[in-house]
Order: sequence, then structure tokens, then C-alpha cells
Amino acid sequence: MAHLWKTDADGNWQPVPLEITGETAEPQQARILPTAIPGSDWAALAAPDDSLHINGQESALGLRVLNDRDELALADGSDEPRRWYFSTEEVVCVVPFPGSEHVTRCPRCKKGIDAGMPAVRCPNPQCGAWHHQIPAGHAEHRERECWTYATKCSLCSQPTALDAGFRWTPEEL
Ligand SMILES: [Zn+2]
Ligand SMILES: [Zn+2]
Repeated sequence: MAHLWKTDADGNWQPVPLEITGETAEPQQARILPTAIPGSDWAALAAPDDSLHINGQESALGLRVLNDRDELALADGSDEPRRWYFSTEEVVCVVPFPGSEHVTRCPRCKKGIDAGMPAVRCPNPQCGAWHHQIPAGHAEHRERECWTYATKCSLCSQPTALDAGFRWTPEEL
């Protein structure tokens, strides 16, 4: 899920998930809106006098599609311009496989993944491969912990640790 990095009261960067349920009024004046553009799921919308800057450039049009790691800043006259970072990075999480039109095969074990089976989608946006992640003692399915079977995704270099967290944070800047 895409998210915005914002600083908390102690000045630490915190990720805030962007829900595709409607508009998120964050940052305060500039809104982050879901778009219908394939591959560009979010855009920032700001009123002309909000002085929204993206990666240091004023967004004169007021509407701008957001890309991974874009910096948003509102230079609204306060001493410190308020800054946020947009990120499309996903975290590793186990979810019931949503199902698909065609048979989806797990790249680790080559067996099919059925709708509802506990599974992990590789969070690397260039990969996104689904793997089984069925724990031992599951009520319906045999144990099949394919995602965490190795330390890396079977198709890319994404680490599989379930508590790995985000690979990129604004602290790296
Ligand atoms: Zn598998
Ligand atoms: Zn992968």
C-alpha cells in the first residue's frame, strides 16, 4: 500500500498508509487523491496559493501525479516548510490470496495458489510474485511456507523476513 512519510511530534518519520477509499486530507491543504491512471495510483492536488512544491519545484498546475519517493513541501510562510514523502513501497504481509482470473502458480513450489490461501505478495513493485505462506496447523490447508522458505524472494532479491519493515525511509536522505 502506498504511504506518506510524515514527522511525528518528536521529529521521527512515520509511514501513514494511503487508503484507496477516498481522499486523504494530508498534508493539510494539499490533498492526496487516488487516480485512475494505470501505474500512477496517486496524485497531489493543491489550491493555487498553497505553494505546493514537489521535489523542490513549484507545482503550478495544482495537480500532479506522484512517483515513488517524491518530496512534497508546503511553503506556506512558516519558518520551516512542512515536508512529506510519498512512497509506493509495500511491506511484507500475509493475506488471504484474493484469487485471479488465471491459475497463479507459486514460483517456489510451482503449485497453484487458491483464493483464500494465506499468501504473500512480493512487495518489490518490479516483481509482485505471489507465494504460499500457509502456517503449520492451518485449519484448511497443508503447511506451505514458501515465502519464508528462503531468505530472498524466489524471483528477485527482496528479503522475505516478515518483520523486515520498509527498505527505504526519508532518514536515508
Ligand atoms: Zn508454494
Ligand atoms: Zn520478488
